[in-house]
Amino acid sequence: MKNRMMKKFLCTAAAALTAAMPVGTAHAADAVVGDMNGDGSVTISDSVIMRRYLHGVLDIDSDSFLAGDINNDGSVDSLDLAGLKYIIFSNSGRMPVGAWAILGTGEDYFYFDGDGNVTVTHTYNTTAGTVTENKVTVEGNKLIITGEDENREYTISWVNSKRFDMIENGRKRIPVVYYGSQPLVYDRLLNGTWISDSGREYDITGINGYYSELGAETTENFSYEKDLNKLIFHFDSENLNDGVNAYITAVDSMHIDLTWEDGTVERLTSRNYEVIDGVTYINGILIANKTYSLPSDYAPNGILPEAQAAFNEMQAAARRDGLSLEICSGYRSYAYQRDLYNSYVNRDGKAKADTYSARPGHSEHQTGLAMDINWAGDAFNNTPEAKWIAAHCAEYGFIIRYPQGKQDITGYKYESWHVRYLGKELAGEVTDSGLTLEEFLGIDSVYKY
Ligand SMILES: [Zn+2]
Repeated sequence: MKNRMMKKFLCTAAAALTAAMPVGTAHAADAVVGDMNGDGSVTISDSVIMRRYLHGVLDIDSDSFLAGDINNDGSVDSLDLAGLKYIIFSNSGRMPVGAWAILGTGEDYFYFDGDGNVTVTHTYNTTAGTVTENKVTVEGNKLIITGEDENREYTISWVNSKRFDMIENGRKRIPVVYYGSQPLVYDRLLNGTWISDSGREYDITGINGYYSELGAETTENFSYEKDLNKLIFHFDSENLNDGVNAYITAVDSMHIDLTWEDGTVERLTSRNYEVIDGVTYINGILIANKTYSLPSDYAPNGILPEAQAAFNEMQAAARRDGLSLEICSGYRSYAYQRDLYNSYVNRDGKAKADTYSARPGHSEHQTGLAMDINWAGDAFNNTPEAKWIAAHCAEYGFIIRYPQGKQDITGYKYESWHVRYLGKELAGEVTDSGLTLEEFLGIDSVYKY
């Protein structure tokens, strides 16, 4: 999704709306749109003030001016008067029906069933969302939500048919957008942090989120509606009537494609980053490379049982094809790798040693999930065994961890003999993608010291 498309869309939307509906967001944060007299609600008395101002018989202060500039074009004129009339008309006791979300904040989601019941789902801070059942009554333009402990009273100010503002305590304006006719089905597909190939980081909780350009300080808030695989994004800064459409396609367990309405495709990579006892897991996958190291006390003291069982299965299959596979180097302790690396540094120097040997804590052999098969050297390349491993290891849950031509990405030259256990499903996905594990997870492998 590119800014150019957004601008084009905004112009179209603005042209369609013209006088009838207000657009724009640059109102003072605490100004109620249309509230010329500052009493917290938008009524016929506000339109009287605006009309007198337009006739030149009344001066207004800057707060009133901001509240009255309904279409946000920098002036208060007859278009704003038409917009104000729309708001006043809509405010007379109309009740929201269906699913609604607070725009952009990552907070509450409402479902109004039309019979006076409202379900409030708190979308923040929890995977499934906390659901509270409340009773709602509407008196005129007052919305009263009856909770277990307290009643909360809001004034509803309709901005258009898919957007209203809940006004709390007279001034605080809470923008609410239409989500759809059906109650929220919590969307695990989008939940979490995503790195986009267009250089954005998305953070999504429930039906709200924000994105930032990587490295940038500012963020853009949004909510989205979901209709099967169509998402309708409502960006905080755009305040659009209908939102911007995107279609989601699941690529594999860690990637989705977002196809924006201008045809731009953004690929999102899930980024669930955890460090547990000094060990880094990305999307649940234990990572040891030049960027991410293992602590010296991480010591499974052998190939982990699941990886060993997978190797045994692979070994048996190779034997049926007349080939012999043996682990020539499996688990290596932190201390072993430290001594090995130091001996290479003494022989070849640090720069050279770094091209073929891992610094202590950075070797994948310390994970208990990696192994060298038969012969750890270039002489193994192109042997029938090496070809068999390349063709079949994913079927048993392994990947060739350092493929040919990917040294700049993995940090290691091609090693036909070094495989990493990932489990069958993930190994299949990584192999099918044609990517290295670093590319698949969107991470790097570079010493930072
Ligand atoms: Zn190895």
